[in-house]
Amino acid sequence: MSEQQNTRPAALVTGGGRGIGRAICLALAKAGFDVCINYASSSAAAEETAEQCKAFGVQAVALQADVTNPADCQNLVETAANTFGRLDVLVNNAGVNADKLILRMQEIDFDKVIDTNLKGAFFCSKTACKLMMRQRYGRIINISSVVGLHGNAGQSNYAASKAGLIGLTKSLAKEFAARGVTVNAVAPGFIETDMTAAMSDAAKEAALHAVPAGRIGHAEEVANAVAFLASAETSYITGQVLCVDGGMGM
Ligand code: NDP
Repeated sequence: MSEQQNTRPAALVTGGGRGIGRAICLALAKAGFDVCINYASSSAAAEETAEQCKAFGVQAVALQADVTNPADCQNLVETAANTFGRLDVLVNNAGVNADKLILRMQEIDFDKVIDTNLKGAFFCSKTACKLMMRQRYGRIINISSVVGLHGNAGQSNYAASKAGLIGLTKSLAKEFAARGVTVNAVAPGFIETDMTAAMSDAAKEAALHAVPAGRIGHAEEVANAVAFLASAETSYITGQVLCVDGGMGM
């Protein structure tokens, strides 16, 4: 797509093709954003998400990039900004897990999760901040986790990445507060997606037991919180962690 001037706000969602990312893309499209949907390997899902976004009357494109690759991150954010002529919102949603007790966890398990969940957000934010600072407007939303706040046995790598995202969020919030750029985190609890479908029945049972709401959450419930933080109306909210967890982290 060629560069074009546009009056609609524009958003980029990493890992936006499926799961929580797809729900975020749709919530933003519904709210009137043009949407860039990043994917690593799920191209068909990302194209399908783009079609679903367009049904809300906005523009949407799928962009391939691996967030573990710094050059991909820079290129992704710049391409997103050029596609719609602006970039108002970055949602760092791409994430993986590689759960093991620490005695069995290898360095590769730790690096993969940190490289995707934390360093990917760092590299995308670095390029986005530069653009948003120039615009004197922006919203960065990092998808953390209840596990980043409270820890979880068998998820030391994942918890470290998600706690790191909260530190990144608060630090960037302080760096850019005076420039019209807000940086917040959303911390989902136990949400129904491919990631949680892969859990054992015992682990699912234990997770459900810890949710006061007594049920698993839906991706749309996370997406609604992201859409709220992405709106222009939240100009005085920055450095916050909004839990969407049915009370799990209380
Ligand atoms: P899914 O496993 O369903 O989806 C993961 C998404 O991340 C996919 O879109 C995938 O894209 C993308 N992704 C993974 N690796 C990369 C990469 N290297 N580069 C670009 N994109 C990548 O997970 P969820 O939807 O459940 O999770 C979304 C976010 O929410 C994650 O950050 C997760 O940690 C977080 N979260 C989820 C919770 C849950 O209960 N489900 C709870 C708390 C937080 P592709 O398919 O193209 O590889």
